[in-house]
Amino acid sequence: MKRIALAAIPLCAILLAAGGYAAASASAEGDAEPAESSAPAVDAPAPRTQFSIMGERTQGGWVRGLAPTGAVSARLGTQELVLEADGAFFAAFDRDAAGQEEFVATMADGSTIVTPVVIAPRNWNIEHVNVARSAGGASASFMERRRPELAQINAARTQDAPATGWEEDFIWPLTGRISGRFGSQRIYRGEPGSYHSGIDIATGGSGNPFVAPASGVVTLATDRPFSLEGYLLIIDHGHGLNSAFLHLSDIAVKEGDVVEQGQLLGHIGSSGRATGPHLHWSIKWRDARLDPLLFTGPMP
Ligand SMILES: [Zn+2]
Repeated sequence: MKRIALAAIPLCAILLAAGGYAAASASAEGDAEPAESSAPAVDAPAPRTQFSIMGERTQGGWVRGLAPTGAVSARLGTQELVLEADGAFFAAFDRDAAGQEEFVATMADGSTIVTPVVIAPRNWNIEHVNVARSAGGASASFMERRRPELAQINAARTQDAPATGWEEDFIWPLTGRISGRFGSQRIYRGEPGSYHSGIDIATGGSGNPFVAPASGVVTLATDRPFSLEGYLLIIDHGHGLNSAFLHLSDIAVKEGDVVEQGQLLGHIGSSGRATGPHLHWSIKWRDARLDPLLFTGPMP
């Protein structure tokens, strides 16, 4: 049931894009081949001699895959991957990831299997403005308020909950107008500002409900508005993947809650530093910042 779902997952678009890999992993699960007299009469799946990966091989994108059969550990570049018993894993590529990385599996005898992956560059929306970047640093009183907030956010984003959202097809937490895209950035007289770390969804007002894009565990539900994020909610989807929701008007779940995909999480608002009511949704895999659009597909 569970892991076969990963190989045969409803990744229609992705199956088209990565036909070779997907077909190989589907038949490796033994559910694709009709019995034929010429076929060997064995039920055991053929061992995988390479990584089988499917997903969005681009900056801000993600992949799910299966490590070679018998791998005792696996990594993407220097990042150690969490391997399920059947070799299933999740990995992703930062907004600024280089053009090529390697999946490396270490086998029981110490040998390694390397599968390179090409990461397509994106055309980020970069705006050059003839304005100096805002002068001066943060005040001492602001930093005093900010430090514990950052510590709480960091603690929430580095938890490792036994959640399975990482293997689900994400849904939109809210439908509306996309008022800010992931990755866009302003350059102030040659000096780059920080890029937009999530996607903004606006409905024209406050108070609309939003739901969990995938299942997970609540690792942060603030009881007061943080200075920038406002009321902030973080959901851990497992394997180092998590979602954050900012500027909320209220939160309907509490820390430690297990949430299902589609479950009500709270209502949108404009708490914290926001120019108007909207939902800011960001996704991270460990330190890599990812594009939510690559998890959901276009806004319906
Ligand atoms: Zn935003």
